[in-house]
Amino acid sequence: MMTKDQKQKLLDEVGDEIAATRGGPLKGPGINPVAGEGNPDAKVMFIGEAPGFNENEQRRPFVGQAGKLLRKTLAVNGWKEDEVYITNIVKYRPPENRDPTPAEIEFFRPFLDRQIEIIDPEIVVTLGRYSMYKFLGEGASISRVHGMPRKIAWNGKSILIFPMFHPAAALRQGAVMEQFEEDFKKLRSLIDKKEGIISADGEEIKAEEKKEKEGEQLELI
Ligand code: URA
Repeated sequence: MMTKDQKQKLLDEVGDEIAATRGGPLKGPGINPVAGEGNPDAKVMFIGEAPGFNENEQRRPFVGQAGKLLRKTLAVNGWKEDEVYITNIVKYRPPENRDPTPAEIEFFRPFLDRQIEIIDPEIVVTLGRYSMYKFLGEGASISRVHGMPRKIAWNGKSILIFPMFHPAAALRQGAVMEQFEEDFKKLRSLIDKKEGIISADGEEIKAEEKKEKEGEQLELI
């Protein structure tokens, strides 16, 4: 087990390495690194898509309109921003905020994987499709699986994935906003009550069985 300070030091190193790429495939004038921010010991890690204009300016994830919604919804559900860790799949802003390409996602994958390994969160909340694809594969449909926690084997560990709509999508469509807010409440109660977890084979596990199946690990959630 690493201490919080040890984790922070390693995350800073990853941040320095991200900066040293100078943007990698997204290199260009005015481009700044956006590595991620938050508690190195966070139980919950939020992974979005890529920085936008404001994120590039401030070198911080989720500080534009979508970020305001994410941060407000965190607060409404009783989280302090410094309890969670927030980052993205891609660590630099794609031009005109276009979708990241497979090559860009692949370029930044080792940095994100190391962030996940260092933080070692109990729950990864994926915001939007690209982040969901990383864990659930490209066949996953966000409108079908959002708000459903799923336990997966990932890099030799068991990890709980909680897919959510991207807050930018919620800002565009009222119906998505409702789902976004509802899913956030579910996430809160999942953590508080430890209920409704779906096993790797998709079968719902009831609270009692869950304790037996997963033992102490779930006590940490
Ligand atoms: N959208 C994202 O996916 N990430 C950010 O950091 C900001 C907007």
